[in-house]
Amino acid sequence: MKADLAGEIDHMKKQAQVMVDTVFSFGELGYQEIETSKYLSGVLEKEGFKVQRGYAGIPTAFVATWGEGKPVISLGSDIDDIPQASQKPGVAYHDPMIEGAPGHGEGHNSGVPLQILAALAVKRVMEREHLKGTLQIWPGVAEELLGGKAYYVRAGLFKDVDVCLFAHVGNNFGVGYGPTGGSGLVSIEYLFTGESAHAAAAPWRGKSALDAVELMSAGYEFRREHLRLATRVHYVITNGGDQPNVVPPNASIWFYFREADYDHIMNLWRIGDNMAKAATLMTDTNYTERLLGTAWPGYFNQPLAEDMHKNMEKVGLPQWSDDDQALARALQKELKVPVRGLATTISPLRAPRAQAQSEEEGGVGPTGGPSDDIGDVSWNVPTVTLGYPSNIPGGPGHNWANGISMATPIAHKGVIAGAKVQAMTILDLLLHPELVQSARDYFNVQTKDVKYHSFLRPEDQPQTWMNKKIMDQYRDRMKAFYYDSSKYDTYLEQLGIKYPTVH
Ligand SMILES: [Zn+2]
Repeated sequence: MKADLAGEIDHMKKQAQVMVDTVFSFGELGYQEIETSKYLSGVLEKEGFKVQRGYAGIPTAFVATWGEGKPVISLGSDIDDIPQASQKPGVAYHDPMIEGAPGHGEGHNSGVPLQILAALAVKRVMEREHLKGTLQIWPGVAEELLGGKAYYVRAGLFKDVDVCLFAHVGNNFGVGYGPTGGSGLVSIEYLFTGESAHAAAAPWRGKSALDAVELMSAGYEFRREHLRLATRVHYVITNGGDQPNVVPPNASIWFYFREADYDHIMNLWRIGDNMAKAATLMTDTNYTERLLGTAWPGYFNQPLAEDMHKNMEKVGLPQWSDDDQALARALQKELKVPVRGLATTISPLRAPRAQAQSEEEGGVGPTGGPSDDIGDVSWNVPTVTLGYPSNIPGGPGHNWANGISMATPIAHKGVIAGAKVQAMTILDLLLHPELVQSARDYFNVQTKDVKYHSFLRPEDQPQTWMNKKIMDQYRDRMKAFYYDSSKYDTYLEQLGIKYPTVH
């Protein structure tokens, strides 16, 4: 049956390439994934899935369901992209399609297509073999803002789910269990208000909201020395005033507070609130704050990870062509990182990363890392993340360089291989109820002492206005680059790009 699944997926190669290239060409930022959401949910609807749109109050969120009964297997992957990461695919140096526009500089264009391929292959085998079970597919909306999955949890998406198989792009096959070494976070914007005045004629009559922003950021910079090593805090100033001759009556600063666990994240948030308050005392201003996103640190399921890793070994890495390797090597040379081409051996099963040590030792252990709000899901249902080889090793992440492979044969082959692994893992769960049970047993131990509390307060709502201004600025010009699969075999062909293009 696994060979059948692999054959089904190989038959969908064309569909895989079209889906990956189409979503790449939309290049939409978090909460503004309008075309992407319409397109992917449409594909699923055509394939017989029941689609619920606008899930959890997020216009671009949807849940597609097919099948009936247990087990209920949930499949998700992120769909949003990165500001200013516009990049021509297949070109091994910085060459934006539209200067300043967003682009898939992480590779989130590939994950839901992978899940769709896996689900369609499994669906065919289930129909033929009369297997019971329910498949559920959803997009990770606004993952870069950590703005989707905690809302999905709160809306009850995972209430009846037995297992969640998430997928995230990587540059090799990869899967692990236990804590990941990444962080959880809260994303908070502090908005200060003061009083404007002529900055030269009557500066003494002004109360500068910008001063408060700068004092708060300076305060956190000093405090940094006295925080655990597991802390990662960073910010951008979202409003610094209008022009120098007007004392800024409002200004704002947006923080990501990252730490290893719930309590320490809440502590960073508390420190932030204190600093905001202190800044208002120093400047005679006021502040309000709003929560823009949240993520629990991830904790992944061992029995699922072990099963998935076996399937990775069964499927094997894609056969890379000389052109694929030439693109990868040229990019690595461009980035001044070791020139090692594309992955040719599968990474071993990732063991749990060390957890933070005691308070006395300053939380030595993890030094913090990235976050994904799949962490919230991982504390609500047994979850594992499939990493699949659609990207080039050595990219800095969240950067144009990470978009280069994402509408080329490298991404297409990685998605095909990843879909096979995912489909085989789903099949294992359908045929072996004891695997579902051991995943649940592991989860029960995981959650024995650590209880999930959402960072969301009841009044917090998805901030779906975010990124709208940027998309409004670029969307018309981006439309000219949407992939037309009825006219062109591939997106590279539509763009007239020779593969690979290297210096
Ligand atoms: Zn991501």
